[in-house]
Parts: sequence; structure tokens; C-alpha cells
Amino acid sequence: MGRKKQFKSESKRLLDLMVNSIYTHKEIFLRELVSNASDAIDKYYFENAGHVDTTSLQIRLTPNKDDRALTITDNGIGMTEKELEENLGTIAKSGSLAFKEEMDKKDKGENSDVDIIGQFGVGFYSAFMVAKDVTVISKSDAEETAHRWESKGDDGYTISEDPSTERGTKIILTLKDDTDQDQYSEYLETYTLENLIKKYSDYIRYPIKMEVETQKPIPGTDKDEDGKDKAPEYETVVEDKTLNSMVPLWKRQKSKITQEEYNQFYKDHFFDYEDPQRVIHFSVEGNVSFTALLYIPARVPQGFYNQDYKKGLQLYSRGVFIMDHAEDLLPDYLRFVKGLVDSQDLSLNISREMLQHDHQLKLIASRIEKKVLSELESMLKDEREEYEKFYRNFGLDIKFGVYNNYGMDKEKLQDLLLFYTSNEQKLSTLDEYVSRMKEDQKEIYYISGQDIAQIDKLPIVQTLKKKDYEVLYLTENVDEFVMSTLGTYKEKTFKNAGQGELDLDSDEEKEELKNTSEANKDLIDFIKESLGDKVADVKLTNKLSDDPVDLSAGEGVSFEMEKVFANMPQ
Ligand code: ADP
Ligand code: MG
Repeated sequence: MGRKKQFKSESKRLLDLMVNSIYTHKEIFLRELVSNASDAIDKYYFENAGHVDTTSLQIRLTPNKDDRALTITDNGIGMTEKELEENLGTIAKSGSLAFKEEMDKKDKGENSDVDIIGQFGVGFYSAFMVAKDVTVISKSDAEETAHRWESKGDDGYTISEDPSTERGTKIILTLKDDTDQDQYSEYLETYTLENLIKKYSDYIRYPIKMEVETQKPIPGTDKDEDGKDKAPEYETVVEDKTLNSMVPLWKRQKSKITQEEYNQFYKDHFFDYEDPQRVIHFSVEGNVSFTALLYIPARVPQGFYNQDYKKGLQLYSRGVFIMDHAEDLLPDYLRFVKGLVDSQDLSLNISREMLQHDHQLKLIASRIEKKVLSELESMLKDEREEYEKFYRNFGLDIKFGVYNNYGMDKEKLQDLLLFYTSNEQKLSTLDEYVSRMKEDQKEIYYISGQDIAQIDKLPIVQTLKKKDYEVLYLTENVDEFVMSTLGTYKEKTFKNAGQGELDLDSDEEKEELKNTSEANKDLIDFIKESLGDKVADVKLTNKLSDDPVDLSAGEGVSFEMEKVFANMPQ
């Protein structure tokens, strides 16, 4: 038996590797440090349950341009000398994960709303992406003295005692020098810091505070000597500002949220200046737990038909922002849906910038799909006008959904389709059409054309109308593909009225046509010969009522399909 040895690692190289290959955005260092601060306060809160003045708990950012230093302070649980060594001296050691597991064991999952964020034990080191020196001063209640941990990231770290007396942790980043590519000094600007907190840490449940300079009117300067109104004078005041909203809208009770709040949130987060048409807010508990806040825009979003339009929902994990367009959460035909999903059940990859493509995600996606479809169905049923408004915006996407994916989704989508019809002179569902079909009618008739007016004039449409058959008017390129993908609806076949024979004639009419055709055989043969290759056949027909001639496509590709194919990029 050989002697067991520990792996050695070149810590400087490992740190470099980590820092520069895990994360794609340098700015996330702030998200990581603030998440750690929040975890530390959570731990303090849980360890001292019942004896904590919750109003005092906070995280603070202090930029200092003179020292090129950004300090992040929390009054959480702090670290003892040993903990500093274990947690910050050991890469990939997560004290937070250990804490969470300990808590879960103690109360057997009862307290699993311990929303601790940390788990990988690497986030802290992201500080070295922006800092040339990181100093951590920490004081735990478990120890008399505070300690100072310091590292330049290359050759290890030092730990010494520190005179601080306040419980908690202070992390001081001395920022790297600016280069042409990277402007680290931007992390000293209150504007940048405010934005980063809004972006990544808006829903951290403790206040994240910073002193911010604002311009305020000087009291009493808004009147002149005669007591008339005038523009007031302003002065610069330094104010303590809370940068995060803390409680996310979607975690609040639905009944306590106003439509106005939902709308404002939509406009703030999803780049629209109009209120959304619909808000869908729901939570799911079980195999996978999540909350979703979804919106159907009231108009077609900007750039919706551009190649680079990105579908997807924002993704949060335990209230911390992970990514902007999680594509896998929405099927293509729902790409107009905006919104977000927050779940504690996601397996994030180590950078917490991406997801492992997993089972959980699929479960969430399928719940979202079902929910949106059922919302549309009930809109169609109960609020027809609203639905038609929706359909004018996004009906095309529903149609694409029918024939995309080899028609796999057609069953879920067919009842959401609307078509203009000859009888109604407005939009109808297929179900409504079928319910109006004549007793002897076997097929669902449709016909394509440029627009309603043009279709309305077609000879065959006139004939069908006279005979009291209803026709669907198709005016969009995709429509015929939709028809051929559907094939049938409620066991009725779709039939292009502009193509082939319709079999509308009674037996007597058929007999009469046959006789007339035979009597006029010479004339018909003469027309056929004169036209030569230009036509496949010449026949007498009862299809026409007032028009003398009808050009009709044979079986196979229809005129309209031919046009679509001709317009397709080669
Ligand atoms: P993670 O957060 O995934 O556990 P980090 O590298 O971000 O990994 O942090 C490592 C550990 O250092 C944490 O698990 C925690 O135990 C400790 N730690 C980091 N920041 C603080 C802080 N502000 N207060 C107390 N402990 C901290
Ligand atoms: Mg962390």
C-alpha cells in the first residue's frame, strides 16, 4: 500500500484560471460579493433568531476615488481567524453550503426557506478580476478580536489581528489600473454601482446602501423679495440611499399588487412604453418550484421580425439575476411573451451565469407553455375582442407554431386559429366554421388570395356562396402551409376551393354537364389544341355562376403555393 498524498496545486495559476475563465463579465464581482454579504446576514439572523434588531441589518457600498478603493461592508455573521483561513484560503470551499446543509439537517427541511445563495465556493475570488489588492476585515461574535485577511491574488495571503470592533465583514478592493480595454475606475462611480445593484442584486432582501450626492432645492429660495414664485436655488446634499427594491414584485401576494404596479414593472424591465395586454403571474410548487411573471405585449415589439430578435425570459435564482434571455423557457411560437422566472431549484453552472440544461428547466418550460396557452384559450372564450387584438399582433406566430416542428404542436394550437370567412365577414375559429357546415358538406373549404376583397370576387367564391357553402379566406403566405399541416379538423378534410373538383353538383347537374360536354366535344377539343401546352385540360364546369372562364390549378401545388415558392430565397 502506497502512502496517500494530497494533490498540490499551483495556487496562483489556479486562481488566474478561475478568475479569467469562469466569468464572462467582470462586473459580476459585485453580484458575488453582495450575495456573500447577504448570506452572512442571513446566517447571523438564523443563528440569533428572535434576538435580532432586523432594521439594523444592512450592506453598504463605499467608493473612494482618492484611494481607488471600493468597500463592501455587511453586519452579518463575520468570520473568525479560522473561518477566514478555511473559507477564503481554500478555493472551492463554501462555508455557506456547509451552513445550509447543517440547517437542513437540523430542522429536516422545515426551514428550507433558508435562501442562502452561495454554494460553489468560488464567487469571492471574482474580486481579483477587478482588484489588485483585496483586504477582508472580519469580526465574529465567536471571537474577541477582529482579523484582517489580505491578498494580491498571486502569492497567497496574510492574516493578522485588526483593531475593529464591529461585528461583520468589510471587503476593501483596491482596483486595478485602467487600461485601454478595461476601465476599472468606473466601479467607483455611484452611477455604475447603482446600475449594477439594480441589475443583479435588486432583490437581495437586506438594504444595500450608499451615500449619494443629489441636487436639492434650498428651502425658502423659491420666492423672491415680493413673495412671488421663482426658480429655487439648488445645493448638493449627500444622502444615504437604498439602492435595491428588496422584495421582488413577483414574490408579493397577488391580491396586494395593483395593475398599475404590474404595468410599471413591465415598462421598466422590458423596454416598452405601452402597458402590456395581459399579465400572467403564477407560482408552482412541487417537483420543481418556481414563480413566473409573464406579459403579453399590447403591440408587436420593436425588431420582432429582425433576425437578431431574442426570445426568452429573464431568469432569477433565489432573487438573484442570472440571465436575460433564457431561450429554453419558451417554445418558438410563444416568442412574443416577455417576463421572468424565479426558481430555487435550478442547477446553475459554477459561474452562475448559465444553466446546466436539465430536467428542471424542461419541467418549468412545459408548465409555462401550458399556462400561456390556457390563458389564450380563456381569452378567446370570454373576451373575444381582446383575443382578436392579440391575434392581429401575434396570430402569425401561432400559425408558425402549427406547421413548425413537423406539426408536433398542431393539436394544442388549432383551436387558437382564426380565419376570415365568407359567411361571417369576420374572424372565425375552425370550431365555429364546422358548427355552421351544411349537413351534406364533407370538407372545409378555403381559398387564398391577396386580400379579402380580391378573394370575394373570385368566381368559385361566388358559386360557393350561392350554394350556401362557407369558405375560409386565406390572405397570408403561411396559411396554406397551415392547412396542409393540419390536414383535417374534427375529421373534416381541408379542401382548397381553387384547386381540382369540388363535387358540389347534384346528380342531375352532373348528368346535364356530361351531356353538354359530349355535345360540345368538338369545340372543347379545338380550344385544347389551340392552347397547347399552356393548360393541362379544358372542361365544362358548373363551378361558375356569372363568369365565363375559370383558371384553376390541378391537384398538387396550388397557385398560391407556387407564388410562395417563387418568392422564397434560393
Ligand atoms: P460561496 O458563496 O459559493 O460559498 P464564495 O467564494 O463566494 O463561495 O465564499 C466562500 C465562503 O467565504 C462563503 O461560503 C462564506 O463562508 C465565506 N464568506 C464570504 N464572504 C463572506 C462575508 N461577507 N461574511 C461572512 N462570510 C463570508
Ligand atoms: Mg458567494
